[in-house]
Amino acid sequence: MAIQLSFHGAADTVTGSCHLLQAEGLKILVDCGLFQGDRQWEERNQQDFGFDPRSIDYLLLTHGHLDHCGRIPVLVRKGFKGKIVCTSATYDIAKIVLMDSAHIQEEDAEQWRKIHARKGVPQREPLYTTMDALDAFQHFGTFAGYEQPVRLNGKIEVTFKDAGHILGAAFVEVVIKGFGKVIFSGDLGNRGKPIIKDPCFPDGGDVVVIEGTYADRNHKNIETSVDEFRKAILDTCQRGGNVLIPSFAIERAQEILFYLREFYEQKKLPACHVYLDSPMGIRVTDLMRRHPECFDEETARLFEKEEDPFDFPGLQFTKTQEASRQINAVKSHAIIIAGSGMCTGGRIKHHLKHNLWREESSVIFVGYQAEGTLGRKIVDREKQVTIFGETCRVNAQIHTIGGFSSHADKEILIDWLQHNKEIRHLFLVHGERDSLASFQEEVKKRNMAKDIHIPHLNEKFSL
Ligand code: ZN
Repeated sequence: MAIQLSFHGAADTVTGSCHLLQAEGLKILVDCGLFQGDRQWEERNQQDFGFDPRSIDYLLLTHGHLDHCGRIPVLVRKGFKGKIVCTSATYDIAKIVLMDSAHIQEEDAEQWRKIHARKGVPQREPLYTTMDALDAFQHFGTFAGYEQPVRLNGKIEVTFKDAGHILGAAFVEVVIKGFGKVIFSGDLGNRGKPIIKDPCFPDGGDVVVIEGTYADRNHKNIETSVDEFRKAILDTCQRGGNVLIPSFAIERAQEILFYLREFYEQKKLPACHVYLDSPMGIRVTDLMRRHPECFDEETARLFEKEEDPFDFPGLQFTKTQEASRQINAVKSHAIIIAGSGMCTGGRIKHHLKHNLWREESSVIFVGYQAEGTLGRKIVDREKQVTIFGETCRVNAQIHTIGGFSSHADKEILIDWLQHNKEIRHLFLVHGERDSLASFQEEVKKRNMAKDIHIPHLNEKFSL
C-alpha cells in the first residue's frame, strides 16, 4: 500500500507550514499556516493551496502560532468541510491568534483604501475578516489529549505528543495499518524552559517530517541567559533608567514574567514597576492558567501551593491604551514588556520613542529579530532609527539574550531523531535552505535515515 505526501508550505521558506498526507481514502492536512516575511511570500497567502480545500477530510493542527494556523480561515472560505483536530490549549491559542490576525488584515485593507481611494486604485480585500475567523472556529471540536490516540477511520489513528514548544504544542504520530508510522514534528521546543514540559520523544517513525529552524546551530545555555537578563535589569535600575523588553505575546511574555517573579522571590529584583503592556499577552497569560495539563513539574507545584507564577507585587497588566500611555510618565525603575516582538508595530514603538534616546535606559531583546525590522536595526546598533516618521537616536544600552529560544537546536533535533530507529524517508522542512542542507549532511554522517529529502513548495512524493 502506498501513501502520498506533499508540501504546501514551510518548503523553500520557514513559514506557512502546510503538509498533505493521503492514505487509506483520507486526505489529512497537517497545519495550515500563514506565509510571512517579504511581499513575495505574503502574496502566496492569496494563491491556490496546491490542493482542493473541499477534498480535505481532516486538519491536524500542531500548535497555535500564526505560521501554523494562520491560513485556516482561507481554507474554510475556499470550501474546507472537514474537522480540525488539536489539543484544547492549541484551540484556545489559535482563537486569540486568528482573531488578532483577522483584525490586522482588516486594518491593512482599510489603510490601503484610505491611501489609494482618491487615486482610483482598485480596493484591496482583506485576506480574511473577523467573520471568516469565526466561521473557521466551527470546524474545531475534536480535541486530542497528549498521548491519547484519536481514530480517523478503521485504518488510521493519530496521537498528539508534547512538543515542548509553546502551550498545547504537539508533534503528531499517524499510524497507518499496513504501511507504518508517519511523524510530523510541528515545531519542537527547547529544553529547560519554564512553564511547559520539555519535548518528549517519538516512538519509531518510518517516515518523519522534521522542522529545522535552528538545525545548524546550538543555543546558549538557559542559566547563563537568565543571569545576563537579571544583570541587565540591575544595571539599568542603578543608572536610573527604564527597561524595555520587546516580546512575543505567546509564551515568551509569560516566561519573562516567570523569571521576574523568581527574581522577586529570591530578593534579586530591585524595587521597580513591571508592566505587561500587551493586550494579547494579557489574554494568553490568562488562558495559560486554565491549562494545567501542559505545565512542567515546577509550575504545577506552584499552582498546587496556590501561588501564581505570573504574578508578584509591582506587576501591572495594562489593557487600555490610556493605561499604556500613562507609563510614559515613569522615568526610572520601570520594566516594560510589550509587543511586537520585533518592534514592527504595537505598543513597544511608543515606549521606544520615549526611551531609546536615553543613555540610562535599556532595551533587552529576548527573541529573534528578522532582517529589515526595527528591532534588527536597534540590535545592529544603528546610530539612529525612524519611529512614527521621526528620527530617534539610539543612546540606550542594547542587550541581546540568546538562550530564550522556543525552538529545538541541532543537538535536540539529532537526539529526537535518534528515537526513530529505522527511518525510511526523512523530510526536512521549516528552515533556511543552507541550514537544512548542513543538517542533511549531519544526518547522513550518522546514518539515521535511508532517504533524506528537502522538499520544494508543492512537491509530491509517493511512498
Ligand atoms: Zn511555532
